[in-house]
Amino acid sequence: MMEHTGLQSVSAPLPWQAQDWSQLSQQLANGKLPHALLLAGNQYTGKARLAMALSRLLLCHQSSGGLNCGHCHACQLSASGSHGDFRWLQPEEKSRVIKIDQVRAVVEFTNKTAGLGQRKVVVLAPADSMNVNAANALLKSLEEPAADTYLLLVCHRLHSLPATIRSRCQILKLVAPDIQQCLAWLDQVTGDRAQSEHLLALADGRPLLAEQLFYDDAADTLARRRLALQGLLTGQVSAPEVGALFAEASVEEFLAQLAAELQGLLRRAQAKQLTSRQGRAAFTLSDEIVRLQRAVSAGANPNRQLIIEALSGKFERELGDGRLGDNIQS
Ligand SMILES: [Zn+2]
Repeated sequence: MMEHTGLQSVSAPLPWQAQDWSQLSQQLANGKLPHALLLAGNQYTGKARLAMALSRLLLCHQSSGGLNCGHCHACQLSASGSHGDFRWLQPEEKSRVIKIDQVRAVVEFTNKTAGLGQRKVVVLAPADSMNVNAANALLKSLEEPAADTYLLLVCHRLHSLPATIRSRCQILKLVAPDIQQCLAWLDQVTGDRAQSEHLLALADGRPLLAEQLFYDDAADTLARRRLALQGLLTGQVSAPEVGALFAEASVEEFLAQLAAELQGLLRRAQAKQLTSRQGRAAFTLSDEIVRLQRAVSAGANPNRQLIIEALSGKFERELGDGRLGDNIQS
């Protein structure tokens, strides 16, 4: 979840967002910025930071050089999270979904006149965490947004967002981060290129996850878990051993790491391995992971331990002979 209080005075886009940012600020300068904008892109690549930078630019009274100025009254309020014309909607604590009551409150807000400046801004992040009722409640605001109101939706699973929402927004698919830019940016966090490379690889190329691993001091734990999953997929680590390593992890975390390892294995496999019994089983298991991920993101609350045990057990049974991993371990 994105912190939206106690911000730096100026919110700038991330280095790999330069092209998208220049398009957005151009649209704004020409009075062509859409009132319902959907920022889509991979998870942990900084979409919410881009939405924050754009929100603060929209609210700023004296923007110059394409960024919020950082010192006007509006900028001071947006930095402290107390700007009355700004709402940031995300799942409330311990919830995975944006609820209808939250959306209703925001719809009411969009119907009022801006109090401080000329514009009001609402960010929904992630927009696909709205349940169906919440999404329906938002439709009218998206259809006929007030002239002074900008709705910025942030989303990494476009398919999870109802078509009714998607069709009412202008979708901007953000440019994927470039590895060299990610490393240069991470170097400022870690101060060490080798560590930046290690973290970025562990995070499957997602820079903000790499940054989080650094600050949470979680890289070692993740590395051990990934190694165990690699072992599970190649018959060298048992399901209970995997379960023990994920004892403190969430279901989402387990599914995400398992999916990443399985995709890596399938990418490296040879054609004849993919059509073997094990190969077909791997694709079926991959589908099962996606199904579970969708259920969890839609608000299902499965028994964590049961899911991890059952799924690890299936992988052990189906791929435990290590045949799929033959010759392709790297
Ligand atoms: Zn300002």
